[in-house]
Amino acid sequence: MEKGTGMTTATKMVYRLDEGSAEMVALLGGKGAGVSEMARIGIPVPPGFVITTEACKEFYRLGHRFPDGLWESIVEKVKFLERETGKGFGDPRNPLVVSVRSGAPVSMPGMMDTILNMGVVDATVDGLAKLMGDERPALDAYRRLIQGFGNVVLGIEKDQFETRLDRAKKQRGLEFDYQLQPDALWDLIGQFKQVIHGATSAPMPQDPWELLRQSIEAVFTSWNNPRAITYREYQRIPHDLGTACVIMVMVFGNLGADSGTGVLFSRNPSTGERSLYGEFLANAQGEDVVAGVRTPQQLSSLSQEWPELYRQIEEKAGELERHYRDVQDVELTVERGTLYILQTRDAKRTASAAVKIAVDFVNEGVLTKEEALGRVSPDDVPQVLMPRFAPEAKQKAIEDGALLAQGLGSSPGAATGIVVMDPDRAVELASQGEKVLLVRPETSPDDVHGILRAEGVLTSRGGMTSHAAVVTRGLGKACVVGCEELEFNMAARTATARGKTIHEGDVLSVDGASGEVFMATIAVSPPAPEELSDLNTLLEWADERRTLEVWANADRPDDAQIGREYGAQGIGLCRTEHMFFDESRLPHIQKLLTVAPEASHLMREMERVRASLEEAPASERANLGRRLTEAEQGLATSTSVKEFNSSLAKLEEFQTQDFYDILKVMEGLPVVVRLLDAPLHEFLPNYADLRTEVALLLAKGDASAETREKEHTLALVESLREADPMLGHRGCRVGMTMPEVYEMQVRAIVTAACRLTKEGHTVYPEVMIPIVSHANELKWLRERLAVVAEKTRAAMGVSAEYKFGTMIEVPRAALTASEIAQEAEFFSFGTNDLTQMTFGYSRDDAEGKFLRHYVETKILPWDPFASLDTVGVGRLMRLACEEGRAAKPDLELGICGEHGGDPKSIAFCHALGLNYVSASPYRVPVARLAAAQSALGQLKSAL
Ligand code: PEP
Ligand code: MG
Repeated sequence: MEKGTGMTTATKMVYRLDEGSAEMVALLGGKGAGVSEMARIGIPVPPGFVITTEACKEFYRLGHRFPDGLWESIVEKVKFLERETGKGFGDPRNPLVVSVRSGAPVSMPGMMDTILNMGVVDATVDGLAKLMGDERPALDAYRRLIQGFGNVVLGIEKDQFETRLDRAKKQRGLEFDYQLQPDALWDLIGQFKQVIHGATSAPMPQDPWELLRQSIEAVFTSWNNPRAITYREYQRIPHDLGTACVIMVMVFGNLGADSGTGVLFSRNPSTGERSLYGEFLANAQGEDVVAGVRTPQQLSSLSQEWPELYRQIEEKAGELERHYRDVQDVELTVERGTLYILQTRDAKRTASAAVKIAVDFVNEGVLTKEEALGRVSPDDVPQVLMPRFAPEAKQKAIEDGALLAQGLGSSPGAATGIVVMDPDRAVELASQGEKVLLVRPETSPDDVHGILRAEGVLTSRGGMTSHAAVVTRGLGKACVVGCEELEFNMAARTATARGKTIHEGDVLSVDGASGEVFMATIAVSPPAPEELSDLNTLLEWADERRTLEVWANADRPDDAQIGREYGAQGIGLCRTEHMFFDESRLPHIQKLLTVAPEASHLMREMERVRASLEEAPASERANLGRRLTEAEQGLATSTSVKEFNSSLAKLEEFQTQDFYDILKVMEGLPVVVRLLDAPLHEFLPNYADLRTEVALLLAKGDASAETREKEHTLALVESLREADPMLGHRGCRVGMTMPEVYEMQVRAIVTAACRLTKEGHTVYPEVMIPIVSHANELKWLRERLAVVAEKTRAAMGVSAEYKFGTMIEVPRAALTASEIAQEAEFFSFGTNDLTQMTFGYSRDDAEGKFLRHYVETKILPWDPFASLDTVGVGRLMRLACEEGRAAKPDLELGICGEHGGDPKSIAFCHALGLNYVSASPYRVPVARLAAAQSALGQLKSAL
């Protein structure tokens, strides 16, 4: 190791383009690897070299200092560029001019810095003018260099330069930067130099080598600017990758009408449509397009105006797409009629475009179906299913005159929110739970924090490749750009279009597909079936390859129907407690709970006496027989028992219908009904509210029957209160102490199944017991419930079968899986509770209290409630699977916790060999794709 730097002397820190390739992304960054690969395959790129991410990391390790030997390598490579171009860096007569760009291994559009026109100084600007044959672009390059260097390297506010530039144009009645003539540019250069002098108390440096060195340092430093850090946190990009720095010979797009700059996608990144899609700005430098300062012309218009160039662009875009076997996002510059490609990368696309492109590539023979399945992230699938403005509601808004303006739909989706023109305010309001729309003339990387929290973005400037468009597309947020009829008054925080003025705080709706902007709230509806045809094709391919079944969690027939339409092969969790919360049912469960203490006492007493009688010696029988008769009479005459039974009967009626409906919707497929699992106090009024109410009534001297009733309820609520309800009297513990409730549910399930069977339907109910921790619980319930089921079948005269099983959601159940398996035909992992109880984190409180902090500080690698903790919780699951299956080889294994819809967790479930994952209905398509990717090894999980 070389002392002081930690790098070996042999470590190569700078690569010529022809020394690199696409595989070297980690070392050369996406941009560096991209241009190297292009150079390698014969795409016209300007000569250049790349400083590695390792050099950047070392720069940080050394406390913002170049590692030994780096500068010398850079100088050597600049000399190489001098030889290649026949120019000299800093040569007054024949100056070499280069760009200095950042480029991380993972795309972070616009988050870090770039400095152009390096090499233009007082001494070289005349020489450059002569080379260009025109003074104006040379001076323009110089003023851009000062501006870029001033902002990026010296940290001077952009506004300091922009306001002077705007003033220069206004004074001369000009619209565009390129219209500024040499005298105006000289004047501006003078002003910019003064800005620098004012800010740094030193003149603008004039040694090009010194400028180059400082610029490279600034590029490295920009890896850790606040917006880059925020973006990485949001996108979960590691902070230790570092950025590469790409240095290339500048080509100029601003040398006149035969020059220009453009950005293109080889297919439409918003819809996936197969046609070249992009923008071109004549007589301009590259940054002008991305910055969205001027709205460029559509690239397609070049096919008329400049057919030969258009043909070349099409040809190169096609070559790049075929070479990379993916849609490309390409930056190009035309210098005096010669085309140069400056950058290419796999295009960011909307989820719908990703799906369409993957399917089209298979149809075009570019990809295999397996490869296509790997091209769509399962997490993107919900975006394709995202609601859009309902066509009728939109039509009505148009008829009502609510259409405010029309822009370019650059990232589809329907967003409604209150107008906010400042990104900090957007964050503030979003944190208060408001839905906001970020509405600005344009956005820049400085606004990213606001974009992240907004429902959507609306800008008056910029095209499909502007900052706002690119960033929102990557985030799956609705965006309308280039809405030029919107005139902003940023001081007053208003914008006007078609005679109407919107203020901050007004509600707008933007349609990111059509570009329409409405002054109204518009209802949304799911996409039409034809909009989902590519997704369905992809999911059919997924189905052919996956081994995991995908079921849905659904409590209601309509949810079950949605799950089924999305391809669910069963219902893995029907939570029955939700059925009791309905207005029509709540009074019955409340009544039941009110009378339960007395009724239960009598019922349990009778059972105890009966059990004793069965086992008693003859000498005690007579006595016990008398006690049994008394207990039976007590039961028969008790009002509490009567009320208990009648409430139960009412609930049974409701439940029978519930199960009938859901089983019918899922005809032919399994439906796992989980018996009641809720702390009982949840069905009763809130303790604190009730206590205050009763106290106030009593203080007023109110002694009415109603008050007494409330006092009674308060006493009941008090008796049911628990310090830790999640670990308390819930799940099968209620079933054990009040078995009538579970018996009622099983009667309802079997009755519904028998009725449907009689009607000719084939149904597969499965009865699932929650919160089991000991095999004895399951054994006791199983025997008792089997009797009820048998009686019900006999009464119905039909023999509808059901499976009996348990959730594995208490660690002890997992640890004793072989015993539990004796009593169960299936296990379903309730990983919400299993995570809660394995970590000892309250699933309701942890997030806000400490979990986020744990994840942010990397104490935990991720939120274990969102994605399985495969190491700890996963180990319990694995043990339960292995021991459960060893005890019962045909044991059915599934998962019904929220993790069943999480791709990473699904990969783990695949590796475990579960039979199915069960996810919420809208995540069923996500799970289908993730299960296929797991089977294909594209999504991996270590056991
Ligand atoms: C679970 O615990 O994972 C589960 C599915 O049950 P619930 O979320 O209803 O507790
Ligand atoms: Mg649970």
